[in-house]
This record gives sequence, structure tokens and C-alpha cells, in this order.
Amino acid sequence: MRQFVLERAGDAVEALRQSQAQPPADAHVRASTQYIAGGTNLLDLMKLDVMRPSRVIDISSLTQELGRVELLEDGIWLGSHVRMSQAADNAWIRSDYPVIADSLWQAASPQLRNMATLAGNVLQRTRCNYFRDTSWGACNKREPGSGCAAMDGSNRRLAVLGVSDHCIANYPGDLANALLALDVEVSVLAVDGTSRTLAFEALHRAPGDTPHIETSLVPGDLITGFKVPAGPWTRRSRYVKVRDRASYDFALASAAVALDMDGDRVVTARIALGGLATKPWRSREAERAIEGRLLDEASAGEAAEAALAGAVTHAENGFKIELGRRTLIRALMETKVMEVRP
Ligand code: SF4
Repeated sequence: MRQFVLERAGDAVEALRQSQAQPPADAHVRASTQYIAGGTNLLDLMKLDVMRPSRVIDISSLTQELGRVELLEDGIWLGSHVRMSQAADNAWIRSDYPVIADSLWQAASPQLRNMATLAGNVLQRTRCNYFRDTSWGACNKREPGSGCAAMDGSNRRLAVLGVSDHCIANYPGDLANALLALDVEVSVLAVDGTSRTLAFEALHRAPGDTPHIETSLVPGDLITGFKVPAGPWTRRSRYVKVRDRASYDFALASAAVALDMDGDRVVTARIALGGLATKPWRSREAERAIEGRLLDEASAGEAAEAALAGAVTHAENGFKIELGRRTLIRALMETKVMEVRP
């Protein structure tokens, strides 16, 4: 691992000030200043020499300030420093926002869930092998303009939705899909001390011709938490994840579904897909295909068709289209029959 300067921030204001001490030359390429909390993704990438920060700001002491789950009048607040295991085990989340708890329980290992924060988890980076192995020269995400070894290489696990000619890496997380389906708002503190909120949908970016820019955050931005709005759909919500190993693995395909139903009829549907796309993927097409209709295998199948209609495959990942469809059908049908307390 390369040498770096480690600083510890006592609070959010100090973290913002420290992040400005040495402006990054190119903020998006291997980022010269990084925050660290749980460290479960950043340390990996530093050891692999993929990320080479010259300055790391330890924000783990902000847990006191940003590590709470709070019940609001119109939803629930998840602090950015809440641990994955803490949220997965929270009684409010388990009863009223089960898609969030489901997504967390199926992510990572118990040890990682005890360390990783929610903000760190949603910002985790792709597991594309060529991105993580610096002996491969061609990776536009790691070295802009260098090419993409995955296009004609090993791409079985990579994305079929939201891809570009420059990158087909899939977004690997689970929680982000649940937050996206629930129309979550992200709270961000900027370096000038102002705070802003953005729709979760606006947080991640598709690769386009700049795959090294993965989010809409700018250098120094600090996520402080997530507001999950309450609604009749949150209790009837579910996360289905399909992976090679059930014990511990990233999704080949997953679906986060939240439904407001009147009997067997879908009033509103919120659908996000994971494992299939270059970013957490909201499928408005699938939502439109199912809303107002009786939910059965046939209508769920039509929604799944709509969800994958724009898929683009490469040599090894064509199976993801059918797998993605079946995953969404299963998620819709299981969500329909959930026992939901009034
Ligand atoms: Fe790099 Fe993206 Fe290509 Fe993977 S798919 S090698 S991350 S540019």
C-alpha cells in the first residue's frame, strides 16, 4: 500500500475543513482525498492499488452525530453512519420498511455488516475484475481513456442495463436498490457548510463516456443521512436476490419491489433492479406496465419484459435477461402475498 496522511475528524465541520486542506488534482481519478468510516471498500481498493489517496480523513467518530435511526412523522431517518447490521436489526425498519432490512441481511457477511456504514455501502464501487486488477491496462473507470478489457473479456457478471461503449461494469450493492425503490432523499453537507438534499435516483450516474465519475457528489461532499418517506407501499415491500452462492455473494440479479395494492389490483408500484445495471436501476417501464392491473403471473411477466426490454448483452451475460425477468416476477408475486399489518 502507498503512503498516505491520516487525519481524524472530531465532527462534520472539521471533516469538511480537512477535506479542503489539499484540493485534489483530479478529484475523480483515484481521488487524492478520501473519507473513511467502516473502510470495508476503500481499504480493499487501496491495498489493490486501485485507489491511491494521499490523504485519508477518518470520520468514524461522527457515529455519535450521524449514527442514529429516527422515527419521523412522515417517514424514517437513517443516519449515514448507521451500521448495516444496526439498520437490518432495527424493529421499525423490519416491520415498516422490510425491503431495506431484506436487502441488508442478504448483503456481505456478518463481520462486514458490523463495520460498514450505510453511506459507505451505497457508495461501494464495482467488482469488475479488470477494475480491481491493475495488471490490466484497459479500464476506463480506473484509467480514463485506456479502453475496456471487459467488452471482449470475462463479462458474465457485468451489466446489461445502462451500459455504454466505454464501460459495462455493474453496480454491486443491494441496499441502494431498496432506497431507490422507496424514493429516498439523500442529505449532503457541502464543503461551504451548506446542506442540500437530492433524490436517491440522482446520486449514481450511468457510465456514459465518463465511467470514472460514478456519482453526482463533488469533492468534500459528506452524506449525512437518508430520509425514507412513509407510504402505504413501504410495509408491502420485498427484496429478492439471486446469486451464485447463497451464503455470501453479490447479486447476479435482484429486485426491490414496493406495492400499494387494493385487493389484487396494483395501485402504485415501485421497482428497482440490482445486479443487472451499471447503477441502481429504477424501472419506470415495469411500474407503468403493472399499475392499475390485477397482479398475477401474466401481468408480472409483462412488467418483467418491459423492465429488460432495453438490455444490451455481451458474450457471457446473455443469461441475465431471463434471470432478471424471473427475479422480478418472483419479487412481485412474493410481495403480493406478504402478510402486512394495517
Ligand atoms: Fe473498467 Fe468498466 Fe470495462 Fe470493467 S467494464 S474494465 S470497470 S471500463
